[in-house]
Amino acid sequence: MASAILCLNAGSSSLKFALFIIDVAGDLQRRTAGKIERIGTVPHLIVRDAVGEVVEEQRWPDDHGFSHETYLDPLFERIDALVGAAQRARPGVPHVACFDTSFHAAMPAIATRFALPRSFADEGVRRYGFHGLSYEFIAQQLASIDPDVAAGRVIAAHLGNGASLCAMKGGHSVDTTMGFTALDGLMMGTRCGAIDPGVVLFLLQAKTMSAAAIQHLLYDRSGLLGVSGLSSDMRELSASAHPRAREAIDLFVYRMVKEVGALVAVLGGLDGLVFTAGIGENSARVRALVCDRLTWAGVELDDAANAAGAALISAPDSRVVVRVIPTDEERMIAVGILAVVEP
Ligand code: ADP
Repeated sequence: MASAILCLNAGSSSLKFALFIIDVAGDLQRRTAGKIERIGTVPHLIVRDAVGEVVEEQRWPDDHGFSHETYLDPLFERIDALVGAAQRARPGVPHVACFDTSFHAAMPAIATRFALPRSFADEGVRRYGFHGLSYEFIAQQLASIDPDVAAGRVIAAHLGNGASLCAMKGGHSVDTTMGFTALDGLMMGTRCGAIDPGVVLFLLQAKTMSAAAIQHLLYDRSGLLGVSGLSSDMRELSASAHPRAREAIDLFVYRMVKEVGALVAVLGGLDGLVFTAGIGENSARVRALVCDRLTWAGVELDDAANAAGAALISAPDSRVVVRVIPTDEERMIAVGILAVVEP
């Protein structure tokens, strides 16, 4: 009988974890949770207890020479002290992988296609979408907070270091900005997002770059980092007075507004807009910059509510309801585990 579930959620710049205990009623109770963020630059570990109080913090000056063990060993030490006895008693703890694409699996076929010869689609070269655990959680939360909006046409914006949008109808994904890989769509912390594929050919042919060098460029050196030349971190860029920081934020917002427009067209209108993940949950500035450019779609922000970090940030007479919903991918992972592991 399983009594505890440890969820590890590896983001592009973070490693999030949560330990859930299954209570006698079979419900998931979060015991501890935390994250190591800014992996790749200046890693920062923060651990919270069941009520959200910080119980441990550690900072590293840089990321040089670090491996997954560097982060995981202290994490497991802490978790051992909570569940050590249980772990020693159960060395064969089952491992479960949860796919971040599942939520998009039922997207209409047309939204999954590339305009390539059909043999490629037969081989699986198609749009899959990512951040599905996050969007599934958002869809469920919205259905309980605001069922009318959840039943309608909603765009959820997962804006973390990796960033994407999901268009939902009645709580189901009908399109999303990431595709075959998590490189497509929005501009991200270090990823370029959608790019003319001709650029890749140019890099290969005219610049004679190797595939590995192009991969490194598109995944690790582009996005906010590449455009600003300063940082991939929205907090740092927001605090900077450097014109290139402003330019990077402006491009991030511009690209997002453009993609929202495309998804509004796919949905045939918009009833709700939800912001989530690191930037979506915390940056009132980015939310305001985006919403100010979406008045044509019926979005009207309540500036005071947005600045205060309220859950409902649209004005009372806004045609589109705008909300901030903190995501909880770890809970969705635990729910997925419960579905396949006998408690
Ligand atoms: P990951 O995709 O690695 O899981 P997160 O969801 O943790 O990323 O989001 C990381 C991003 O959120 C970073 O760009 C970070 O700067 C940004 N962020 C976090 N807090 C704030 C804040 N208070 N203001 C602006 N940006 C923030």
